[in-house]
Amino acid sequence: MILPTELLEDIRQSWVNDFTIQQLITDLQDSPFSHIHYTYHFDQLRRNGKLVVGNDVHLREKLLQLFHSSATGGHSGANVIARRLSAIVYWPGLWRSVQNFVRECSICQRYKYETVATQGLLQPLPLPTGNFIDLTMDFIEAIQTTPFEALYGVPPPLYVPYVHGDSHVEAVDLYIRSRETAIALLQHHLQQAMNRMKQQVDKHRTDREFDVGDMSAYRLRLPSDAIIHNVFHVSLLKPAYASIAASSELPPMSRQSVIQPQAILDRRIVKRKNATATQLLVHWQGYSPADATWEFTDDFQLHYPFFSLRTRNLGEGSIVTNCNGNSAFDGGGNQ
Ligand SMILES: [Zn+2]
Repeated sequence: MILPTELLEDIRQSWVNDFTIQQLITDLQDSPFSHIHYTYHFDQLRRNGKLVVGNDVHLREKLLQLFHSSATGGHSGANVIARRLSAIVYWPGLWRSVQNFVRECSICQRYKYETVATQGLLQPLPLPTGNFIDLTMDFIEAIQTTPFEALYGVPPPLYVPYVHGDSHVEAVDLYIRSRETAIALLQHHLQQAMNRMKQQVDKHRTDREFDVGDMSAYRLRLPSDAIIHNVFHVSLLKPAYASIAASSELPPMSRQSVIQPQAILDRRIVKRKNATATQLLVHWQGYSPADATWEFTDDFQLHYPFFSLRTRNLGEGSIVTNCNGNSAFDGGGNQ
């Protein structure tokens, strides 16, 4: 990227009111090698060959905009922008400025996916306090009984912790105490296993807080004509870093704007990382079959959960079509 001439003039202007830079120029005019990284030739102050930008917030903002938000900038990420910018100009803290600028860019905030890990840390269930007490709800609903009952035909006995000396019989006292120790040991190992599991899972996740507390979903104030539900899970939300004026309109989300699958033309098995995965050749609505794309089956089903994969034989091999019509994305739009 080449700097427009007027920007070069703006950069020169930024030196006028910058006392440190004025001092630097004076030093270099007196003695060209007085500052190791700096040169002053042809009225241009450079640091390691890069034009020095004075302490002028507006000018720096203008440069950031040119490199990030303009058509040539293309809203590239902070690292790309910082590398391009620092190839031409220099100011102390340039990388940090770029990071803040990109982070606060309202366009990027709204339209870019996040490159952070899945949000929300694993919240393990509390350790059971007795035998066969803890079961997940759907398990109970599915079998209508506990594993203990299924096995022994009676409800599990109530677990009452033993207090040392409760029994006058030495053998009983010893036996129950050793059982208590075994239970404590079991709980200890369960806790350790759970911590390890949580650690592993959380490695791939980031905690997300909006400074409100332990909320997992937020009710948003939406325009009155919004036809989507107003409660969103944290994983769908991003914190806003810059104060963006609230828009009274939601981004357009017409059915036409969301691409819909029309048919599955083929299947294949491919290698993904070290495992195999199936891909579907998807024919998209409004596009020719020649534009069909290979999509991973699990991703596809995630985005189009209502797209039925029922096979219909049309003579030219098996073709899977959408039997639910084209309403796969009605009311959704959270992708
Ligand atoms: Zn941007």
